[in-house]
Amino acid sequence: MSSIAELLASRSSLAAVSDTPGLDVELLLAHCLDKDRSYLKTWPEREVGEQQQQQFAVLLQRRQRGEPIAYLIGSRGFWTLDLRVNASTLIPRPETELLVELALEKLADTALARILDLGTGTGAIALAIASENNHWQVLACDVQAEAVALAQDNGQQNKIHNVEFLQSNWFAQIPVQQFDLIVSNPPYIDPADPHLAQGDVRFEPRSALVAAGKGLADIRHIIQQAQAYLEPGAWLLLEHGYDQGPAVRELLHTQGYSAVATRQDIAGMDRVSLAQYPATA
Ligand code: GLN
Repeated sequence: MSSIAELLASRSSLAAVSDTPGLDVELLLAHCLDKDRSYLKTWPEREVGEQQQQQFAVLLQRRQRGEPIAYLIGSRGFWTLDLRVNASTLIPRPETELLVELALEKLADTALARILDLGTGTGAIALAIASENNHWQVLACDVQAEAVALAQDNGQQNKIHNVEFLQSNWFAQIPVQQFDLIVSNPPYIDPADPHLAQGDVRFEPRSALVAAGKGLADIRHIIQQAQAYLEPGAWLLLEHGYDQGPAVRELLHTQGYSAVATRQDIAGMDRVSLAQYPATA
């Protein structure tokens, strides 16, 4: 039998694969014990049961092989929500909260907004926006049936009832209608990007990460198709790579959008571009 403190010492075995080995072992052990991390700090001498110790050993080994923590424990916090995560979707990133912040900024004066989230994955963006105002109606789409099921489950778990989920390849299955805001974190990594061979992204679905045309193919498609779905004066918000701001702004200008701008994430990197469908079109 080992104590909590003894098991947490196995952090050293993660030094080669993780920048946060201490946090990782705490999250894994807390998950096996079905407790939160503060419990580990409160009861370091407590012995851990045989079965839980075995479960911890298996997860630690998988982490040593590089599997993302969020897939191992099956959840990830985003905004104020706790979201289930599985290998069918991208793991929500903290920098993506910028999309939520900007959406809330643009919708601040809209009492009954209609919002569309394209490529919703876990449902993170749609659910975060919807959680802030239950008079808003959000439609969340994903091409993967497993992602739609997961996002739906996340809506129920978080008791958010103003999001509707639909399986659709971008706009293909969405009946034409006008939204006040369209938001998306589409795949935008260049297939040749060497980062795809490092860290968590190796385990995430490539369909959620990579896009043709130097990562811009899906962004271009969304910018072109979105116009038929935007109210005059409505906003389109797109996440993209740190070096794609100029290309995305160019696409938005070319397609006739106005008020085109790029905003930086918490790390100071270009992360979201936004534009308004011309109010006078
Ligand atoms: N920001 C993610 C990464 O660089 C990519 C997310 C995406 O492709 N939408 O790992």
